[in-house]
Order: sequence, then structure tokens, then C-alpha cells
Amino acid sequence: MPQDPYSWIEASLATIHRANWYRSVQTIDTRPGATVLLGGEEVINFASNDYLGLASDERLIQAAITAVQKWGTGSTGSRLLSGHRKLHRELEQAIASWKQTEDALVFSSGYLANLGAMAALVGKRDLILSDQYNHSSLKNGAILSGAELISYPHCDVGTLKTLLSDHRSEYRRCLIITDGVFSMDGDLCPLPQLLSIADEFSCMLLIDEAHGTAVLGKTGAGCVEHFECTGQTIIQIGTLSKALGSLGGYVAGSANLIDYLRNRAPSWIYTTALSPADTAAALAAVEIVKQEPQRLVQLWRNVDYLKKLIREQLPLLKLLPTESSILCLQLSSAAQALKVGKKLRSNGIFAPAIRPPTVPTSRIRVSVMATHEAAHIEKLVSVLSEICSGDDIT
Ligand code: PMP
Repeated sequence: MPQDPYSWIEASLATIHRANWYRSVQTIDTRPGATVLLGGEEVINFASNDYLGLASDERLIQAAITAVQKWGTGSTGSRLLSGHRKLHRELEQAIASWKQTEDALVFSSGYLANLGAMAALVGKRDLILSDQYNHSSLKNGAILSGAELISYPHCDVGTLKTLLSDHRSEYRRCLIITDGVFSMDGDLCPLPQLLSIADEFSCMLLIDEAHGTAVLGKTGAGCVEHFECTGQTIIQIGTLSKALGSLGGYVAGSANLIDYLRNRAPSWIYTTALSPADTAAALAAVEIVKQEPQRLVQLWRNVDYLKKLIREQLPLLKLLPTESSILCLQLSSAAQALKVGKKLRSNGIFAPAIRPPTVPTSRIRVSVMATHEAAHIEKLVSVLSEICSGDDIT
């Protein structure tokens, strides 16, 4: 009898279980929000990327409904065939004007935007330098591009410079890739230093603005605006699915870059265009973020309030340094992270345990939203205090 060629899957699953790395989905039974019904119970939601609470905003919902009624459900083809609509271009122009870039291009997801851009920009004779904590879409995009990939220690511009001094001349093009906000740590990339290194060694610089879009900067334009680097030549990639409450991704940059990507990015050319509903919702979100800066102000008030309460009431808690709306509570093992996550959950708080291989060390990841009320944040800190006093966090 030949051996079952799929038997290794069961063995691999068993290994994942043994390491406490097994993941499963949890069903939310309500619209997204600061509180949600999870498995039939109301919980305070610290697990969402909907930082401004726009995913359930009536204006986005109405924009999506109107778009479906006018344009139908699917876009029916790729942008270069039957899928292109006026709405796509309106969204791209709105993004470009917000980010103050010459142009922008929307993709079906942020993940695909990263894959497509890298596949178009570099190949076999080129070098990619990647921060070791970059998101999976950057890492996989780099691998798929076929370029030589070197990972540099997290935010270590000294090592990055040394690597370039040693290797830049061996390659045709060089691309430095970095998250703007590191999604599992909450810290920011050292953008001004990265820009000056890119300039010195003639490298392209790609920043993933997934968690910075509509969160960082005076107008919410992202990490680039936060560091006052607007107008510099940077390839900005982001998602429409987090603070913008919709689905899809974008690349923003020079007109030439966007024109080139329309001709060379496989994950844009060979996939169905973003649906009318998602496009219209994202467009409504961009307009709201521009017109209602108080949403950003409230988000940062909430972040500061949570940090203040933690400082005052939980001084021993090991919080990773953060400059974003993501706060991470460091734990010693995957088992401990799971235990703390469960305790939070049994006390009405949804803040997931994040474990290897997603991150090098296990943690509880807390995402703050503009729509959290003070009482939600106080409840989180009071439950964490109880868990700490029970010695569960060491
Ligand atoms: N980059 C980062 C840093 C992310 O966190 C994510 C989503 N988790 C993505 C890219 C992918 O975005 P999308 O969900 O739109 O595919």
C-alpha cells in the first residue's frame, strides 16, 4: 500500500497543538464596535483594527449600499479588463491628495499591494533589506520577488548602514522595506534615518502604513506625515481595512511609480478589481477622516488615558514601548499569554494572546479605538490589576 501523502498534515497539527500555537477563529455576532457580542456574550473589544470606529459608521454603510445598488456586487474583472469603475479612480485621487503624493493605486488588499509592488520593483539582480519585525506581507513579498533578502535587526539603522556599505555595490537596485507602525509591537520605524540612509546608498524606500493610516500624523495621513516627511520620495503602502473600516489596499507615490505598477504589478493586473461596495466605503472613510479630525484627537486621548492608568496602577507590568494605538503586554510564554487572554475574556475583555510564530515572544495585544469610553479603558486596567495581583503576570 502506498503511504498516504497527506498524513504529515495531522502530525504537523499535533505539533502546533503541543507548542500552544494552535489558532482558531472566534465569531462576533454584532457590527464592529468598542463592545461586541462574542460567542453570545458582550465583551469590550480591544482586538480590533477599526481604530476610528468607522467600520460601523452609517455613512460608510450607506455609501456601500448605494454603490451596490448602482454598480452591482462584483466588479466582474480585473481593472485592465472589465473591472474598472469611476469610483476606483475617485478613491485613488482622494488617497493621493490626502497623502500629498502624485498618484495612488488601489489593490484588493494591503497584503496584495505589498506583494505586487515588490514583485514589480525588484528581481533577481536586486537586494531587499527588511526589518526583522516586518509584517508577513512584506516578508513574503520580498521572498516572492526573487531578490536577495537580508533581514536587519529591528530598527537598527547602524547595522542597516553597515550591510549597505558591504553589499550595495553587488546589486543593481536596492529596496529598504519597513512597517511604519510595527503591527505586533506598536513602535514606529526610524523613518528620517531610513530616508537619509536610502538617499546615501541610492536605495528605494517602501513603508507599510497599514497601522498608521488614519491614526498617525496631523491629518491622519500616516507615519510619513507624523515624521514630517511628506513630499519625500517614499513608496507608501497601506490598507483600507483597518482605520478606514473597509477592505482593500493602496500604494501611493509618484505618477511614474503608479503608472509602472499598473503595467507590472501581478497582484493588481491579474486579480479582480476591488468591489464597488468596498471602494465606496473606503472613499467615504477618507473623506470623514479629512473632515472630522476630532476622531483622531479622541483616539490619542484614549491611548494616553490607558497609558496613564497603566503607569499609575500597574507599574510592574511589562509593556513594550509604543508610539501608536497598539499596546503590548509582554508575557513569558505562549501558555501564560493564553492563560491571561482567557482570564481577560472571562472578565468581559477581548484582547487576544499573540504567540510565535507570529511574534518572537508571546504577548497580549491591546488595540485602542476612538470609540472606547473611559469606562471601557478603566475596566481593562482593573481586570489586569486583578490578574496581576493573582500573580499571573510575572
Ligand atoms: N501590513 C500590515 C502591517 C498589516 O498589519 C496588515 C494586516 N494585518 C497588512 C499589511 C495586510 O493588510 P490587509 O488586511 O489589507 O491585507
